[in-house]
Amino acid sequence: MNNAPTAVITGASRGIGSAIAVALGARGFAVELVSRRVDLMEEVADSIRSAGGTAGIHQADLADRPAVKELAARLAAENPTVEALINNAGIVHVSHLDEQADQAWDDVMNVDLWAAFELTRLLTPALQRSTRAPSIVNIGSVLGLLASPGTTSYNVAKGALHHLTRSLAVELGPLGIRVNALAPGYIRTEMFETSNPPDRKQALARAHPLGRVGTPEEVAEVVAFLCSPAASFVSGAVIPVDGGLTSKLAVPELE
Ligand code: NAP
Repeated sequence: MNNAPTAVITGASRGIGSAIAVALGARGFAVELVSRRVDLMEEVADSIRSAGGTAGIHQADLADRPAVKELAARLAAENPTVEALINNAGIVHVSHLDEQADQAWDDVMNVDLWAAFELTRLLTPALQRSTRAPSIVNIGSVLGLLASPGTTSYNVAKGALHHLTRSLAVELGPLGIRVNALAPGYIRTEMFETSNPPDRKQALARAHPLGRVGTPEEVAEVVAFLCSPAASFVSGAVIPVDGGLTSKLAVPELE
């Protein structure tokens, strides 16, 4: 019987989610990967297994509400206890207000916000049963702290995800469950590559005081810390992982 603690990670087929899965797998978690792309999840799971870890995969479309409920029921049935839930899956829809389609708004709200709420709600009994300091980490964004034009639905979903984090920390703290969020700056993933033209990517890198965008592994390390006993008194925090981006006021430099 495998006594490893269980970590459920959404959006684990690539980018930040796959880096989180690898980081938690290396720290002894049995990881349950969730996304739509089975082929990509197989690759991530294989790399975790070949490093000696344990990984399972679950196909689900988190924009599909009945599918999320079915996924949560399956995860709960297969895992009597869950030690870590990482709500990482996210999509961004780039459009100005006059072009914003209802469906795009709904998809962003479902994947980036509602799925995190629903998975937390339905997996709380499995988290509560754990005797190993269970915790939840939501992957928010600097755009949940400060707004950028053209991504209003994403900005709103991420801002709400940050406040969902605080609300759940208050509600689940008495059950011994810690809840935190990260607010990453721009991170080099498929989302970053496909939602920004080349010139903007360079400008975004320069906008970070560290002079570059981040890597998925740099985000994953902070998640691993939050899921470890070292973070045993950290709850309700929204932690920027942004190379200093949100500390900087966008004003012209003094000559
Ligand atoms: P990514 O490379 O586009 O990966 C997104 C992940 O979410 C994929 O694994 C994708 O899997 C999954 N996903 C998307 N829609 C889904 C759906 N309907 N159902 C199930 N899974 C779905 O993005 P990323 O940059 O790694 O982003 C990960 C998280 O970090 C997101 O919440 C994002 O908002 C946040 N973030 C990213 C940045 C950045 O600059 N990259 C900055 C701040 C915050 P499938 O396609 O296989 O379904």
